[in-house]
Amino acid sequence: MSSEAPNPTPAYDSQVVYGDKALYARLNTLITDHQSKKDTTNLRQVESFEIPIRSGKAWVVKKGQVLTLTTPHGPQVGDLNIFSLTNPRERLWASRTRQLHASHVSIGDRLWSNLPYLRPLCTIIGDSLANYGVDGNGGRVHDLLGTRCDPYVNKILADSSFDYHCHSNLTRAILPYGLHESDVHDVLNVFQVTGLNRDGKYFMSPCPAKPGDYFSVLAETDLLCALSTCPGGDLSVYGWGEESARRMLETCRPIGVEVLEIVEGKRDEVLEGWRESEVANRRGGGYEGLHGLGMPVFGV
Ligand SMILES: [Zn+2]
Repeated sequence: MSSEAPNPTPAYDSQVVYGDKALYARLNTLITDHQSKKDTTNLRQVESFEIPIRSGKAWVVKKGQVLTLTTPHGPQVGDLNIFSLTNPRERLWASRTRQLHASHVSIGDRLWSNLPYLRPLCTIIGDSLANYGVDGNGGRVHDLLGTRCDPYVNKILADSSFDYHCHSNLTRAILPYGLHESDVHDVLNVFQVTGLNRDGKYFMSPCPAKPGDYFSVLAETDLLCALSTCPGGDLSVYGWGEESARRMLETCRPIGVEVLEIVEGKRDEVLEGWRESEVANRRGGGYEGLHGLGMPVFGV
């Protein structure tokens, strides 16, 4: 896009949504040093596993812990769902996050929850693809524009049945936590490059991630996270229907998940001034949630 193209002011432009920038800069240094193995003494591993191709898994990340997603075997996109651990009705609100931050998110951006909660569930503190920028097609990485692939749309578009779309993988992943298909919500597509073409149509481009790439967030409250390793793999040959499903299999790779915590002696220093995020109607200065309704009054 030419630099002379109009660039209107963002509708939701406010620094308030970013929180304490100095704190997140400290966390960025911590995770950058950890991932580059420059200093691995400040973060302790709580849990680490790989999600196999074309599957899903859910896991807990406690407040103040760091979640890192990686592409240890090369390019692969992942579809991420995030719930409040204590109240699964509170979950990632992709469209408001898109308005508050951007269509594609990176370091410093936060992933917000739905109404009436509206708080940061987590803040992005590390992203090895942060310099991807805007490619020649206008594509950007870590997509909030689109949503998960699903078997219903696959049936409509290609008259084909397939049980390992991200929607189905996420459905199976959250079942052990008492959640249901209807709890699966619009995702953050990590490591995924997308954009809108000149006609406003959604497009996807091949995933640029390499072994060693990562995407890290700080949990701002206790979270249940769920991720699907998309059956589209690295999206280099994506399509709908049986033939595409076979072709895309060659491009599928696992995604790595690591939950880390800041070591005891370092925690106070790094997290100085940090506290758990609060839902809107409990937050000081937050909207009370009365919507103009009066309390019922008995009698005359
Ligand atoms: Zn998918």
